[in-house]
Amino acid sequence: MRCLFISDLHLETGRPDITRAFLHCLETRARDAEALYILGDFFEVWLGDDNPDPLADQVSDALLQLSRAGVPIYLMHGNRDFLIGRDFCRRSGCTLLNDPTIIELNGERVLLMHGDSLCIDDTEYMRMRRWLRNPLSLFILRHLPLKTRHRIGRKLRNESQTRTRYKALDITDVNDGEVVRMMRSHRVTTLIHGHTHRPAIHPLEIDGQPVQRIVLGDWDESGWVLEVDEDGYRLESFAL
Ligand code: MN
Repeated sequence: MRCLFISDLHLETGRPDITRAFLHCLETRARDAEALYILGDFFEVWLGDDNPDPLADQVSDALLQLSRAGVPIYLMHGNRDFLIGRDFCRRSGCTLLNDPTIIELNGERVLLMHGDSLCIDDTEYMRMRRWLRNPLSLFILRHLPLKTRHRIGRKLRNESQTRTRYKALDITDVNDGEVVRMMRSHRVTTLIHGHTHRPAIHPLEIDGQPVQRIVLGDWDESGWVLEVDEDGYRLESFAL
């Protein structure tokens, strides 16, 4: 058993080095994995499955090849690509996961999240998230003319361009109480999430029991992969 977890690649045409490193990863270490989990913000922006995008085609072709080779691929929405829909999943052979999702690894219950919903101290963001992610707003967003969605995307990009790529300092960290609440209510010993761009393995204690919170890294100066097998959890970075 060897499962791979990644998140926050923020794939975009402006960073071909990241796409290249990801495609290489699919052809090498993912090839004989038992499963690949992508926990959100896979793409820097996603305007809808109907948006013609050569980068998305290239990536979905490569994912489909891997899934046809027998490696299941699970994809969770992030806060930047939550409009990824059924069509992209079908084209790429991915299964869409709810946020949160519970899986079992080495006989233990593990909670998977993107992580943005743990950052409850950013009240303004949480308000926007509630609005954007409710079924009615999602329906409206998905059915806006592509031109309008492009305009919204450009606006978001202009606003984020001033600070280039998102650094950990730009992102509110998780709320510790919310982490404990989620882990306790889902009765898990491990939580794996991304979003905060603060890769680390945090040992914790909940109700006298040792547990852990694993934060995946964002792909920027280096790439990050969490490998899980019978020997445990290894968070690795590599040069792009
Ligand atoms: Mn995120």
